[in-house]
Amino acid sequence: MKKEFIFVILLSALLITLVFFTTMPGRKRAEEKKNAETSVSETTPIVTTTEKKKPEIDADNPWAFYIVSRDYPLPEDFKVYPKKIQGDYEMDYRAANYFLDMKEAAAEEGIELTVISAKRSREYQKQLFDKEVESYKSQGLTDEEAFEAAREWVALPGESEHNSGLAVDLNSLDESFEESDAFKWLSDHAHEYGFILRYPKDKVGITGVQYEPWHYRFIGVYHATQIKEKGITLEEYYDEIWGEQ
Ligand SMILES: [Zn+2]
Repeated sequence: MKKEFIFVILLSALLITLVFFTTMPGRKRAEEKKNAETSVSETTPIVTTTEKKKPEIDADNPWAFYIVSRDYPLPEDFKVYPKKIQGDYEMDYRAANYFLDMKEAAAEEGIELTVISAKRSREYQKQLFDKEVESYKSQGLTDEEAFEAAREWVALPGESEHNSGLAVDLNSLDESFEESDAFKWLSDHAHEYGFILRYPKDKVGITGVQYEPWHYRFIGVYHATQIKEKGITLEEYYDEIWGEQ
């Protein structure tokens, strides 16, 4: 009886020891992993993907954040709800007050901003385009050549920002406008009112549009400020935020 009792005790002790030593390394690894995870998450931001994430941006006027161009024409039934900004010139009513505030702020500093083009209907855009084509044809270009030449300077209906009611041309349709005090003022302050110089001189290859120092586009204060600070075009900014389209 006594021998059997001792045997049972020894066997139990052996089993307990075995269980302890076989499970201990597992526990240790689990604990190490846990510690590692904790220390990593405490010190290093975990990057799980290299894909650009669509950021949640708390921007003003998010409705105005879109591109109008040859590649991204407005839908044919696009409707603008206009408000007068100067004489018969109109803008989208939501952008109009930003323009009027900008005009007033400029005036307070002795700068006159005069609208020379604003919202255009598709019909009017077509007239402008046809007129440009005719002038090239009168110089001896074929229909096709004149069409291509006109496209360099005038957008087709739906492809102009003026059709969206978000663009204004100011003061002068001459490149020398860039020398004016008004241009300097706009370069410093337009973004504060949600406007950007849409077709900069050194970005013709990206915008596909000739340099237009007079053309300003409403996009909201947040995005306009970002674009100005980064020194990029709307196209580049759009790609930066949403990824290549
Ligand atoms: Zn324009």
